Amino acid sequence: MKIGLIGLGIMGKPMAKNLLKKYPDLLVNDLVQTAVDDVVAAGAKQASNEEIGKTCDVVLTMLPNSPQVKEVMLGENGVASFMKKGQVFIDMSSINPVASKEIAAELAKNDVEMLDAPVSGGEPKAIDGTLSFMVGGKQEVFDEYKPLLETMGASVVRCGDVGAGNTTKLANQIIVACNIQALAEALTMAQKAGVDPNLVFDAIKGGLAGSTVMNAKAPMMIAGNDKPGFKIDLHIKDLNNALDCAHTFGAPVPMTAQVQEVLQWLHNHEGGGKDHSAIAQYYEALSDIKIGR
Ligand code: NAD
Repeated sequence: MKIGLIGLGIMGKPMAKNLLKKYPDLLVNDLVQTAVDDVVAAGAKQASNEEIGKTCDVVLTMLPNSPQVKEVMLGENGVASFMKKGQVFIDMSSINPVASKEIAAELAKNDVEMLDAPVSGGEPKAIDGTLSFMVGGKQEVFDEYKPLLETMGASVVRCGDVGAGNTTKLANQIIVACNIQALAEALTMAQKAGVDPNLVFDAIKGGLAGSTVMNAKAPMMIAGNDKPGFKIDLHIKDLNNALDCAHTFGAPVPMTAQVQEVLQWLHNHEGGGKDHSAIAQYYEALSDIKIGR
């Protein structure tokens, strides 16, 4: 199978290297030549959008957001203009599910099938090939290309038709952001009331309030460690998509709107490059404390 992959950033680059282990016929491109050089050194071939669209059985993208995916696929001389019946497009970026459906509708005009297949797991799991894929698209297309996604992921779950993958990813991002904010608020309250946040974490992490988010982010907040993991600006992007999607379908999302404003404050005051657990720094500024310090 001949594969094209466009977008070789933090995630796309290690995903390309895992693909190469099973699919050596891999064409790639990115706006950043050093990223392309790195993946070419691992065995891939650099190619234009035209060559990828004309010659690959499957076209993959791992781009920042909906505008970039639309530009690459549907813009002037976009990949889609070179694709024909039988070829498949799989977008692994985290984008607005409304945009996923729009792109799929355009591709369907030429009988090109599409899956939206965003991931969770971040760079370490992209390197290990243990990402979790949330996939939208036809069952038979999913069944055919699940083994391809399994070269990059440990879990590949179909959530429904096109758009369902990105809808699931947005649900994931809402839950994570709201959990982080609740954690920061609770630890701030405990410290202001004279109880050590370290002991609060130890006492409650095994109970109902405990979570993967708590285990990952409470130690970071207490240590004042804001090295990303997952950047504030990426989470702002995801919640903008969540708000847009929710408004499109009439879903009420007051918590998402509120935590988005906190993230925006952080972007303005601290920069968007910190880890999203820096939501704790919003509470530290409001309460004039340093959590756990
Ligand atoms: P990134 O910014 O590191 O990489 C994006 C790449 O796309 C860049 O190398 C950029 O040069 C390239 N690009 C942009 N426009 C292009 C164009 N027109 N043609 C060719 N290349 C182009 O982003 P990332 O961290 O790799 O994330 C990619 C996607 O995965 C995003 O949607 C993100 O939300 C999602 N995601 C990221 C993480 C994470 O931890 N970083 C985790 C899960 C999901």
